[in-house]
Amino acid sequence: MKVVGITGGIGSGKTTACKVFEQLGVPVYYADNRAKELMVNDKVLKDRIVAAFGDEAYINGRLNRAYLAAQVFNSKEKLSVLNGIVHPAVADDFDQWLEQQTSDYVLKEAAILFESGAYQDVDISVLVIAPEQLRIERVMARDGASEEDALRRMKNQWTQERKAKLADHILNNDGSELLIPQVLELHRKFSSK
Ligand code: ATP
Repeated sequence: MKVVGITGGIGSGKTTACKVFEQLGVPVYYADNRAKELMVNDKVLKDRIVAAFGDEAYINGRLNRAYLAAQVFNSKEKLSVLNGIVHPAVADDFDQWLEQQTSDYVLKEAAILFESGAYQDVDISVLVIAPEQLRIERVMARDGASEEDALRRMKNQWTQERKAKLADHILNNDGSELLIPQVLELHRKFSSK
């Protein structure tokens, strides 16, 4: 089964594009959402997080996101410890999910497909792009975020130009071209290969 990785900077519209693929019957694995679920529900993963970051990582069984974010924010070492715990758990979960799928191809949505190197594990990569200012406006409208907040969240991601060099396909979501025909075109390609 072909695995198509789909990514894009914050507010680019990758989830919106995935919803269109879903309408076409393509199964989508939302890696970031799933990681958050597993961090709360997967006992082994939880135990590992507590062993590395202490009991404060959870409050009454709920993930203490503020605490964990503060732990990893200024420490590359701690971030890599957390990723080293979470990524293998998500990879296993994805493999189990994949075994149950019967379509021609599946999508794996991830915010940092290129930054994390995960693009090397997918068969095809798709990058959703839109200009930074438009992405900021979309995030502000969607999350009620401030411009500073949106910019701060963008800062940890690679530029679109850097990602575009590695991407197999690009979906342009700047509003000048409709997204649905572009998705249909890719769907035809991915279904026939
Ligand atoms: P994040 O990384 O923050 O999860 P994302 O890349 O998944 O973002 P979406 O959530 O799909 O982005 O889109 C951001 C917002 O912009 C959403 O509210 C979505 O409805 C809106 N949006 C996306 N594409 C378009 C478009 N072509 N026209 C109008 N609004 C759009």
